[in-house]
Amino acid sequence: MGLIVQKYGGTSVGSVQKIQAVADRVVRFRSEGHQVLVVLSAMSGETNRLLSMGREIGGETVSRREMDVLAASGEQVSIALLSMALQQRGLGARSFLANQISIRTDGAHGRARIEKIETEGIRQYLEDGIVPVVAGFQGVNEAGDITTLGRGGSDTSAVALAAALEADECQICTDVDGVYTTDPRIVESARRLSQITFEEMLELASLGSKVLHPRSVEFAGRYQVPLRVMSTFVEGPGTLITMESEEMEQPLVSGIAHTADEAKITVAGVPDRPGSASKILGPVADENIEVDMIVQNIGVDGLTDFTFTVKRQDYDQAKSLLVGIAQELEAGEVVGDKEIAKVSIVGVGMRSHAGVATTMFDCLAAENINIQMISTSEIKISVVIAERYLELAVRSLHNAFQLQVPAEAE
Ligand code: ADP
Ligand code: ASP
Ligand code: MG
Repeated sequence: MGLIVQKYGGTSVGSVQKIQAVADRVVRFRSEGHQVLVVLSAMSGETNRLLSMGREIGGETVSRREMDVLAASGEQVSIALLSMALQQRGLGARSFLANQISIRTDGAHGRARIEKIETEGIRQYLEDGIVPVVAGFQGVNEAGDITTLGRGGSDTSAVALAAALEADECQICTDVDGVYTTDPRIVESARRLSQITFEEMLELASLGSKVLHPRSVEFAGRYQVPLRVMSTFVEGPGTLITMESEEMEQPLVSGIAHTADEAKITVAGVPDRPGSASKILGPVADENIEVDMIVQNIGVDGLTDFTFTVKRQDYDQAKSLLVGIAQELEAGEVVGDKEIAKVSIVGVGMRSHAGVATTMFDCLAAENINIQMISTSEIKISVVIAERYLELAVRSLHNAFQLQVPAEAE
């Protein structure tokens, strides 16, 4: 018996029927004697629908404050419906928006960070046997305005609440029964991991595995929140995100992540002298455009090519900014490519083994997939390739590192 924070994602609350099923699941945990706090996403598709209406009216210059007011409304619907379903089952339940708790964030609309959560009121409800049903994805800034945490941010709401309440476990309940070696929608033979380390999960989430919002993993690591990803609909242990792996022998590669939401920009013929990189990237950072991979070629005849990747949504703005900068630097043309994808292999076992990169590059070469950029850290290797090869690359790498379900277990 203890305090469990359960987060249900969009597909888990995608219809009235599914909300009824979630209510049954919550009742089951309560009847086992646990205190339960629920965090919900909006019904599936709802956040997309809201945001596209906002963009239709507001276009490029849409007010970020109003977009947050709009986007946060999706969660208001689901928390009310689940609270009603719980009450129908004879359970005390009460819905809460972020300002009622309060979940305080900074003022960065659309990608706000949680700074502080008031727990006193919520604790009292839990003590009284009430199930608080909290709107995920949203917060409130110093001025009292609604903020949102970025797409997929309800995971972070849940882990932050679990940390603040020192919960015994935070369960991310979703449409897959755990964290897999790669996205099971791409590789059918992907294998569920019974556990994965925080470090690896943080890399996977940051590199595109959308099963967990990266900041939720960061929170769980920082505040030592026991975190589990599991299915809403099928019983099972799911995947536990652990501080350290108990296995002595670490697999070289634990998982493969991919993302197709980046774009690359190249400034050709940049004068090869001190200060060029900062003149290119400084103004990009000033516009709050996040830069991911950076590659600068060896200079020839005093000139070099400078390439970097940005989020695809920032591509147009970054490119037009760069055209002006290139002129100032007396550099050559600015070219870009939106049809790229990033594929990454992640594993703590990489630390102690050479040759992982070679296996990765050999595998891609065998499929005739050209590597455009490479970046590495201690426990990951990422490559940029043409987007049309994304699925082929993920499947081939999954085979090359033998991540599939072993034949005898099928
Ligand atoms: P929710 O709406 O419950 O938050 P998401 O769609 O955000 O669910 O996340 C679950 C999805 O994440 C899965 O349906 C799956 O396609 C995708 N996914 C990507 N990588 C992985 C992975 N390594 N393991 C499990 N699921 C993954
Ligand atoms: N509803 C929000 C989204 O679709 C937050 C979430 O689902 O986690 O991004
Ligand atoms: Mg999600």
